[in-house]
Amino acid sequence: MTQATFKRNAHASYFTRCLRAMPSQAQEQDSNRVTLAFFCLSGLALIGKLDPSAEDRDAWIEWLWTLQAPGGGFRGSTGEPASAPGNLPSTYTALACLALLRAPLDRLDRKALRSFLAACQAEDGSFSPTPDTQGLFQNDMRMAYTASLAAKVAGGGPAFDEPAAIDFVMRCQTWEGGYSGRPGIESHGGTNYCALAALSLLGALDKADVAGSSRWLVQRQIGGFQGRPGKLEDVCYSFWCGGALATIGLASLVNEEPNTEFLLDSQSPIGGFGKEPEEFPDPFHSYLALSALSLTGAREKLELAEIDPVYNMPPWARDWLLAEA
Ligand SMILES: [Zn+2]
Repeated sequence: MTQATFKRNAHASYFTRCLRAMPSQAQEQDSNRVTLAFFCLSGLALIGKLDPSAEDRDAWIEWLWTLQAPGGGFRGSTGEPASAPGNLPSTYTALACLALLRAPLDRLDRKALRSFLAACQAEDGSFSPTPDTQGLFQNDMRMAYTASLAAKVAGGGPAFDEPAAIDFVMRCQTWEGGYSGRPGIESHGGTNYCALAALSLLGALDKADVAGSSRWLVQRQIGGFQGRPGKLEDVCYSFWCGGALATIGLASLVNEEPNTEFLLDSQSPIGGFGKEPEEFPDPFHSYLALSALSLTGAREKLELAEIDPVYNMPPWARDWLLAEA
C-alpha cells in the first residue's frame, strides 16, 4: 500500500496563513470567523506547532473578548453589530480558542452565559442558535451539543432543563440506530457525533443505544467514512463517525489503515486537507482530518497530540476550560 507522507510543515504554514488572512473562500463566512480561528489554533496544537508570539496571542485574546455579547455567549465576528446576541456555535468555538491560547477566563461572564443558554432552549428541550431565533429548522443536534459543552464551562449546576435536553436527543434516534438532527429526519455522521457527545456532556451516555449506534457508524466506513448510506467518503466524516465511536469508547472499531490512507491522500500540496483527494483545502476539513487521525493509532505514527473526542480539542485545553467551572 502506498501512503502519502504527512505534510506537517505545510499544514503549519496553511493554518498560520489562514489565521492571518482567511482565504478568499472563507471571507464570505465572516460570521464564522471565530470558528475558523478554532480550526486553525486547534489544528496547530495537534501538530505541535501552536506557538504564537506574545503579541499575536495578546491580540487574539483581546479580539475574542470583544466577541462576548452583553446578554451572554459569544458572537461569531466583530463584523456583526455589537448589539447582536451571542450564538451557540460561536460560543463553543470562542471558549475553545481562549483555552487553546491559555487565556485567563476571569472576564467570562458566567452568569450571563447561563441565562443565555437557558434562553436558547425551546420547550421541546432543543436549542436554537440564539435566543431570538426560535424555529424548528435551526433547532438541531449541533445546538444541543454546543449548549451542553458551554454549560460545562459555565459551571454552577444545570444551566437549562437537562432532562428535556436529554429527551430531545433520545427522540432523534432513528430506526437504523443512528441519530438525526431533529426527530423524524434522516440520520448522518455529524448528527450522530453531536448526539453522543451531548449525551456524554449531560452525564447520560448510559441512555445511548451503543449497539445500534456503533453498528450504524461502523457501516459508514468505505475506506474513509461516508456521511450517510450511499454517499461518497468525505474527510470530515472520519471525525464525525470516528469521534462518535470514540465517545462511546469504541474508537478501536475504526479500520485504521484505509482511513489513514484516505485522509493522507486528501492533503493538499500547499498544506491543509480538502474534503477528498484533489479538492482545494479548507480549515474545516483540515482540522477534522487531523482530529480524526489523532483518534486512532495514526496519532503515534504521525506524532500528533492527543484529542478529547467529546470536546474535540486537546485534553489540556478541555482541562483549562473546566478548571474554574
Ligand atoms: Zn465534509
